[in-house]
Amino acid sequence: MVKAEAVHKHFGRVDVLKGIDLEVRPGEVMCVIGPSGSGKSTFLRCVNHLEKIDAGRLWVNGHLMGYRQKGDKLYELRDKEVSAQRREIGMVFQRFNLFPHMTAMGNVCEAPIRVRGQSKAKARERGAQLLERVGLADKVDTYPSQLSGGQQQRVAIARALAMDPKLMLFDEPTSALDPELVGEVLEVMKQLAVDGMTMMVVTHEMGFAREVGDSLVFMDDGIVVEKGTPGDVLSNPQHRRTQDFLSKVL
Ligand code: ADP
Ligand code: MG
Repeated sequence: MVKAEAVHKHFGRVDVLKGIDLEVRPGEVMCVIGPSGSGKSTFLRCVNHLEKIDAGRLWVNGHLMGYRQKGDKLYELRDKEVSAQRREIGMVFQRFNLFPHMTAMGNVCEAPIRVRGQSKAKARERGAQLLERVGLADKVDTYPSQLSGGQQQRVAIARALAMDPKLMLFDEPTSALDPELVGEVLEVMKQLAVDGMTMMVVTHEMGFAREVGDSLVFMDDGIVVEKGTPGDVLSNPQHRRTQDFLSKVL
């Protein structure tokens, strides 16, 4: 579902990604941990085309991102074609980024109507299902300002799911939440995983990584230092840098 080969990204003279190699199989939940500034968000943003990579290759759902291959030549895709590739990917950020002037339902239906040209009725029908799935059937007509952070984040998840993504990216989805609201969001994510969604989750929630993750990647300073099953990496880290990081967060 995702394959990265020697992915590099720099901002000005700062090398942020220094050759990322990884693979995510269909249905896999990959958790990504690592210190602040190690390039976790940048990598997710590259996968989602929010940043353009400087070198290497990135495939999502079998498509080489940003290019079309003809024979042995590569052609850069036009913006419209890039948008089509992006539509296969849902992303949830630390800050929920809901449209404040739209209800929960309005937020969930916006992209299907505007981007996909779905009818209002059809989008609302699906929107109702999705809001029920994230436990917010009773908040359909509520505006973000009237929702708790946990509820807003669940709307954000429903909104991402409304485009029927093949892959869901989560960038510290619970880091901005009050502690008592973290569980309800993780529960929704866990259900999504159980239902077979392919997910990449940047998180500090080691309990979630251990319980729900199929694999765990430790990033530091723009590289993948260590990857394995969550149990192995968390209980028996092989690299000094992983050990140091875990000793601070566990
Ligand atoms: P993480 O998510 O692991 O905390 P980030 O991917 O956000 O790390 O950032 C990695 C590094 O890239 C940091 O040093 C950050 O300052 C830098 N960085 C991220 N985005 C930009 C940008 N748009 N312009 C310049 N530097 C950036
Ligand atoms: Mg980040």
